[in-house]
Amino acid sequence: MTDIRMLIGGEPRAAANGASFERRNPLDHSVATRAPAATAADAVAAVDAAAAAFPAWAAMGPGERRALLLKASRALEAKSDAIAAAMAAETGASGIWAGFNVRLGAGILLEAASLTTQITGELIPSDVPGNVAMAVRQPAGVVLGIAPWNAPVILGVRAIATPLACGNTVVLKGSELCPATHGLIIEALQEAGLPPGVVNFVTNAPADAGAVVEAMVAHPALRRVNFTGSTRVGRLIAQTCAKYLKPAVLELGGKAPLVVLDDADLDAAVTAATFGAFANSGQICMSTERIIVDAAVADDFVERLAGRARGLPLGDPRKGPVVLGSVVDMGTVERCNALIDDALAKGATLVCGGKTDNTLMPATLLDRVSADMRIYREETFAPVKAIVRVRGIEEAIACANDNAFGLAAAVFGRDLARAWQVASRIQSGICHINGPTVHDEAQMPFGGVKDSGYGRFGGKAGIEAFTELRWITMQTTPRHYPF
Ligand code: NAD
Repeated sequence: MTDIRMLIGGEPRAAANGASFERRNPLDHSVATRAPAATAADAVAAVDAAAAAFPAWAAMGPGERRALLLKASRALEAKSDAIAAAMAAETGASGIWAGFNVRLGAGILLEAASLTTQITGELIPSDVPGNVAMAVRQPAGVVLGIAPWNAPVILGVRAIATPLACGNTVVLKGSELCPATHGLIIEALQEAGLPPGVVNFVTNAPADAGAVVEAMVAHPALRRVNFTGSTRVGRLIAQTCAKYLKPAVLELGGKAPLVVLDDADLDAAVTAATFGAFANSGQICMSTERIIVDAAVADDFVERLAGRARGLPLGDPRKGPVVLGSVVDMGTVERCNALIDDALAKGATLVCGGKTDNTLMPATLLDRVSADMRIYREETFAPVKAIVRVRGIEEAIACANDNAFGLAAAVFGRDLARAWQVASRIQSGICHINGPTVHDEAQMPFGGVKDSGYGRFGGKAGIEAFTELRWITMQTTPRHYPF
């Protein structure tokens, strides 16, 4: 069992009232972590500390900030083993997934380091004689990052790295499901030598999330919010942010379609579908949730995909390497069992896998899914996937767009011009041609449309999200006034 602390103004802190909460392992229910259950006053103290550290951090030259972020990237990599152990204990994640999290998390810090010298502005011609007009990007202030458990290192780092690069100070609100994993990110940043108060860390009991978040959003020094998580909570955060007029980046749920056209390289499509559907047991926002296959190749495709799915190693990640570890909780199992029952009752075919009574869920494929089945629309966030058979590209595009979400998508086809036409008509923030729906790189604009949220993380798009664009002029000659 790991006992962790919050970090406020550079000091490890328990909750002011001494309260704590526990995170249990999803498989054996042993206590994985005990963490402070912050009060609203603790959360306000974290924003106060970030506000106090802001002027010096914002004024620091980019080279110095870059050096600290580079050190943080290395410090995070050095914690690979501790992070893998924390992820297995808190969320049941596999070692493969933990390794990927650390590599991409370290990469996001490297990219943030390089962004420190890319925060540029522009000179804009003014109609006023002798007037020099500039659009200047400046740090916004204190940024609140709220990250989920499913890709804990990638999304925890993403919530704070670009904001820090831009000269903001931050508060990370850790997930109740993986407080120790999120705490290790904060430890890496501390070890890198970031000044006290630049990075703060708050953990809360699940029931207090709303009050803790609202206390921070309401704080006058808090200038930006970013949230990665479910669409349900995203809407609540958007409402809170609207109440206090705080801009937010919202990265929410998904139901990514992978479209297999009749001329697709089926081996490539099967491999991408296997990876995209079953990495981290399907608990990724970009996870392939709907496999939309042209009927001309569907039988062949489904048979090959089922062969791959059946062979994926499943087990407790603490006991050895697996591809499918434990899902995060029994709620996931129960939700998926109900989706499987509903689909089968309405005429779907179970190709492989099926219902379970524990969190070790097998790779499950349901074929001949139709629009009246719940799994056609609802995010499973688990290794239970829908296959929909269509005829021709118009039906494929209509099916891909027949969903409230719009985060990631993929299209497989050898005629690249045709595949491009299909990709360009899919309503999603991200679409890959001949690649998996699960693909993230630190420098890419990442984000969704429709119920998947708004705003973009990644590369220069992140600079726009976490800076204030100001118009500043300088009058260099006597100015003419009408009176
Ligand atoms: P969640 O929305 O249940 O929880 C996320 C966070 O919301 C937690 O930190 C929690 O404390 C906070 N929260 C809960 N209730 C709150 C409230 N009333 N007010 C303020 N904050 C509150 O999400 P989850 O189950 O942890 O994560 C899974 C979801 O996240 C899936 O839907 C997945 O698709 C999505 N996701 C999206 C992305 C993306 O980049 N778009 C990435 C990963 C996960």
